[in-house]
Amino acid sequence: MSQRTTTQFFDTKIEFLKGVGPTRAATLNKELKIFTFGDLVQYYPFRHEDRTSFQRISELNDTMSAAQLKGRIRSMTVIGEGHKRRLTVEFTDGTGLVEFVFFQSIDWHLKHLKEGGEYIAYGKPQRFGQRFNFSHPDLETINPENEGGGYFQPVYNLTETLRKKYLDSRFLSKIMRSLLEQATPHFRETLPQELVQKFRLLPKAEAMWGIHLPDSQYALTQALRRLKFEELFYNQLRLLKNKLLQKREYPGQVFGNLDMLKTFYQHHLPFGLTNAQKRVLREIHDDFKSGKQMNRLLQGDVGSGKTIVAFISMLMAIDNGAQACLMAPTEILADQHYRGLKPFCDALGINISLLTGSTTKKGRRIVLPGLQDGSIHIAVGTHALLEDTVQFKNLGLCIIDEQHRFGVAQRAKMWAKNETIHPHILVMTATPIPRTLAMTLYGDLDLSIIDELPAGRKPIETVHYFETKRLAMFGRVREEIRKGRQVYIVYPLIEESEKLDYNNLMEGYESIQRTFPEYHISMVHGKLFPYEKDFEMQRFVKGETQIMVATTVIEVGVNVPNASVMVIESAERFGLSQLHQLRGRVGRGAEQSYCYLMTGVKLSKDTRIRIDTLCATNNGFDIADVDLKLRGPGDLTGTQQSGLMDLLLADLAKDGAVLKAAREAADEILQEDPDLILPKNEPIRSHIDSLRKEETNWSRIS
Ligand code: ADP
Ligand code: MG
Repeated sequence: MSQRTTTQFFDTKIEFLKGVGPTRAATLNKELKIFTFGDLVQYYPFRHEDRTSFQRISELNDTMSAAQLKGRIRSMTVIGEGHKRRLTVEFTDGTGLVEFVFFQSIDWHLKHLKEGGEYIAYGKPQRFGQRFNFSHPDLETINPENEGGGYFQPVYNLTETLRKKYLDSRFLSKIMRSLLEQATPHFRETLPQELVQKFRLLPKAEAMWGIHLPDSQYALTQALRRLKFEELFYNQLRLLKNKLLQKREYPGQVFGNLDMLKTFYQHHLPFGLTNAQKRVLREIHDDFKSGKQMNRLLQGDVGSGKTIVAFISMLMAIDNGAQACLMAPTEILADQHYRGLKPFCDALGINISLLTGSTTKKGRRIVLPGLQDGSIHIAVGTHALLEDTVQFKNLGLCIIDEQHRFGVAQRAKMWAKNETIHPHILVMTATPIPRTLAMTLYGDLDLSIIDELPAGRKPIETVHYFETKRLAMFGRVREEIRKGRQVYIVYPLIEESEKLDYNNLMEGYESIQRTFPEYHISMVHGKLFPYEKDFEMQRFVKGETQIMVATTVIEVGVNVPNASVMVIESAERFGLSQLHQLRGRVGRGAEQSYCYLMTGVKLSKDTRIRIDTLCATNNGFDIADVDLKLRGPGDLTGTQQSGLMDLLLADLAKDGAVLKAAREAADEILQEDPDLILPKNEPIRSHIDSLRKEETNWSRIS
């Protein structure tokens, strides 16, 4: 019964709210998509103005983001003509004098403001010489209601039309107050009592008051904490529940036999695995034994040795009569994987083939039937592997390298390559996604992390050089080459000015030739044909050239252990993660490696942070965290933000701790009660129902 009244209350049309009416309702419908009481309470302000206290003019300073003054207008003057026309107002509170400036609605202000009148003013003080200026401050006449100070005034996103009709933040906060007064008995608690108590969260109704009309900063903070928790809790609950369903619904092939792995381990593996690699392999093997389909994300920093983990996993599949495929984002990488794994396969009597966009028709005529009849055990390739013509006899494991270039849709395509029993999926990424982001984006995948580099690797020493110190940098490069090492010199490539970049690269190439006449140089850039690129790469790989001048085409995955110096030109033009990826091309052998970041002398604040972070740490996860803070989550994830779309309040860059708590809580609840049938979880059940209802409403509207 109470459920019905609650639902009905929040479904009430907004025009029936006191102070709204049909005309304003129509505007709110159109401009903000606010149709019902429920829509309105969920229209959250994006910040609050602290109107609770007053500042004195004598106390103003440059660092204040806003100030509220109480005083009197001393004079009003209109200056200038046409679009330069403006109104300046002198205002005093007895401790000093400030000036208000209006460029718009001048006549309206002339009509409504009175010299000698007493007002409350709110705005941002800006220093002009000795005085402070306020441009377009918010002015109110003093009345008994506001003279002692106001509230935390919520500020809502508005449109031009709304402002013109005076449907501004003050109006919204007024109708919000009258709505909240009526709504209070109708709010239902959306979280189980246990959680509310454990995390000391505000009850739902109180939080809704607090986010709109808090009476203190503390109340606002607590309201936000509660609502962010709720949002992230349901986000994680959904992902974890999907994961559970998948596990229950989809069986996976069982790979229990480990003979081949043991042979490889004892006779062919050229090094000992790191503890992190062993742990991850155990996690994967546990999945293989479970009888359930694996969907796992493997994160490991550049150079942490993901390839060998991939290969050993494939051995487990092959040893049990299944096939495996390894998909890379570029041909260079696919090729490198193929060449790297081929000798191992030969030694073990495994057939491995390469399939990319440049595989010839003749080549395909051999590979495709081989995959179909099962005589080829491993297919390494690019997107070409996704094509419908690529059919397997029994695909048991699909490994996707460098995940960030593959979407969920491609994952699904791979599933479909084995209709009888879906292949296990292992997604590998070298772009460490901050944990917070991974949890929301890939919350439906299990996560494995290689958090340890192979023994003997020395941390790369990273040094920043200003352009003016170029000769010193060249000196250090020469020292390294004399020791027999190789060097990358990388130039940025920005599509809009490809020509400029090309010139840059050519100039750089020539100056390097002049500086190092005694050495051989390779050059790789986007304008070369694939075979030319390959030829140049191979010269470098074989050690025939000492210096590789390149654009970012070498960014991902390329592996030349003897290269120990990475010079990055115009480093200010690269993002943090990209710089880290580039740097990861060196430091792969046992030698001390170096990364030199070249920049101009003038650096923005963000660039400074990027450069300093890179010089300070080699840890990809720490770097990813800084990157997330600098750029925000949208940029990091490109188009695959699906998991983030529905976050209204939480900010993944800042709310990592809340996310973690919410995920653990969701996990604990699902462990105990996977179908959410226990009475104490009733609030969750009914909230999910109402969320579902909202979603279907939305899909009907749009
Ligand atoms: P990434 O994780 O970036 O893909 P790779 O798999 O390319 O890294 O490995 C980087 C280098 O480290 C390769 O040359 C690889 O052979 C080597 N490697 C991997 N694991 C180990 C290990 N346990 N000990 C020594 N070298 C290793
Ligand atoms: Mg790799």
